[in-house]
Amino acid sequence: MSTLAVYPGSFDPLTNGHVDIINRGARLFDRIIVAILVNAEKSPLFTVEERVDIARGVFARQSNVEVDTFNGLLVDYVARRGANVIVRGLRAVSDFEFEFQMALMNQRLNTRIETVFMMPAEQYTYISSRLIKEVFSLGGRVHGLVPDSVEERLREKLQRGRIGAPGLASPGEGPSGG
Ligand code: ADP
Repeated sequence: MSTLAVYPGSFDPLTNGHVDIINRGARLFDRIIVAILVNAEKSPLFTVEERVDIARGVFARQSNVEVDTFNGLLVDYVARRGANVIVRGLRAVSDFEFEFQMALMNQRLNTRIETVFMMPAEQYTYISSRLIKEVFSLGGRVHGLVPDSVEERLREKLQRGRIGAPGLASPGEGPSGG
């Protein structure tokens, strides 16, 4: 049986932590689908189309990495795609509680789908999309933490005034999470 895995997330934007997990998944499974969640409520920095474009560009030469979007219940999407594995990345203990809850809920919703957790290389364990956006908007360097194409697009957004907007670095919004 071939193993098809789905790696779901917001990827707003894709970081080298995500890239590391996708590469590990591509070695472990026959095929991995990077599934970008379409969630209009989250007011993302990058549109879904931009996020798809970025991921397709980064993985253009890897034939067993596919980029897709999904809406609604993850397990329904996974089943619809004929996949049997959900991949999630674990950076730190702080990720664990939420991921544990999600995995158990998904197990209950569909007993045929397994969640597999993977750790990135140590140098990527502190990277989150949110932290990248915050640091970049405040003028910090993110080189080496995101693919070059992401760095370029962040620069374009900054020039067009799309980042640096209030909210990205507001107090109370910690650097954890997506
Ligand atoms: P979400 O909005 O679902 O948190 P993200 O796009 O932020 O989606 O992340 C998708 C998955 O990748 C999650 O399992 C998250 O824990 C994991 N992840 C995010 N950043 C990293 C990283 N630096 N190293 C390893 N896993 C990561």
